[in-house]
Amino acid sequence: MKVPFVDLKQQYESIRLEVAAAIHRVLEATAFAGGPFVAEFEKKFAEFCDTRHAMGVSSGTSALWLALQACGVGPGDEVITVPNTFIATAEAISFTGAKPVFVDVEADSCLMDPRLLERAITRKTRAVIPVHLFGQMADMDPIMEIARDRGLVVIEDACQAHGALYKGRRAGSIGDAGAFSFYPGKNLGAYGEAGAVVTNNDRLAERISVLRDHGQIRKYYHSTIGWNGRMDGFQGAVLTVKLKYLEDWNRARRDNAALYNGLLSGLEDVRLPVEKSYGEHVFHVYMVRVPNRDELMSSLADREISCNIHYPVPIHLQEAYGFLGLQKGTFPVAEQCAAEMLSLPMFAELTAGQIVYVAHEIKGFMRQDVAAQDYAPFSAAGT
Ligand SMILES: *Cc1c(COP(=O)(O)O)cnc(C)c1O
Repeated sequence: MKVPFVDLKQQYESIRLEVAAAIHRVLEATAFAGGPFVAEFEKKFAEFCDTRHAMGVSSGTSALWLALQACGVGPGDEVITVPNTFIATAEAISFTGAKPVFVDVEADSCLMDPRLLERAITRKTRAVIPVHLFGQMADMDPIMEIARDRGLVVIEDACQAHGALYKGRRAGSIGDAGAFSFYPGKNLGAYGEAGAVVTNNDRLAERISVLRDHGQIRKYYHSTIGWNGRMDGFQGAVLTVKLKYLEDWNRARRDNAALYNGLLSGLEDVRLPVEKSYGEHVFHVYMVRVPNRDELMSSLADREISCNIHYPVPIHLQEAYGFLGLQKGTFPVAEQCAAEMLSLPMFAELTAGQIVYVAHEIKGFMRQDVAAQDYAPFSAAGT
């Protein structure tokens, strides 16, 4: 049985007529850059996130960068985040001119460890970016408390956490701003590139709106140096259609995760994802940890099961960030996660049959692996 890592086609087929009608409306209105379809989505997405404002932008990377820029982060500043995230989190910091500083993560969730935050703060620290990795929110209460105490801005990287909850509050609604990506494979995915910033802060919202549109306050009058970070009209229209189904899709992902959990529990060498008691995980990624990850991944690939690794190399060990001079061993928990993590197929339309098959093949691999270990002493003795 073939099990893809994600399958965008099935979801598209379930909404194709609505999407076609929405795209047709954009064509007829020739509202291609920003415009009413983006504005409609912004209104609905702000409601969904329980925030006063949502600003549609060109990508999640732009969302992070614009939020930092609007908060006045720039050269000479430090911004604290985690090393096990997509590179965009660090890139956005770098493109403001600030320096990324990392703190290690919690061993059970692979999310920012608030206990390590305080000691990473220096006189130069301006902002903190907790990353709600895999669809689960970081422990926001202690993070917010430390940040408020030290006068730091908090930008939530909610690019993998559309609809996730922390003590009943939505991802993106707790920090000064939240950054979302609508990259096609995300829980809420555009049919192209798109992102959004949400905030309850009116001044920040105004600044982001101006910055994403070349610093323009009125046509051809520019109050500041901005950038082209606008969302396009097609994406606004498609996202408005898809947002209606996001809760259903997230529920399906949670059900899929529960089925995986049930089938894989009790395997000694498989650590299942932990859902923290403070919130609700939306399983953008269903990540298990196994000691022999690479062998398992290739064995599953032989059986037409596609997996992924999020992410094999933590940012402080990426060539691009070599200039920071951070050695292996600096963030042991994140590095251990990187060595063991395996993301199993996960999307709303995944069937129970597919999940049972994946779990069955994982169990089969684990049995063989145990058998091979049992046999090893004999072969070692023979050489
Ligand atoms: C996807 C993602 C981004 C970047 O979003 P793009 O829309 O691809 O620019 C940033 N941070 C995290 C954690 C992501 O998963």
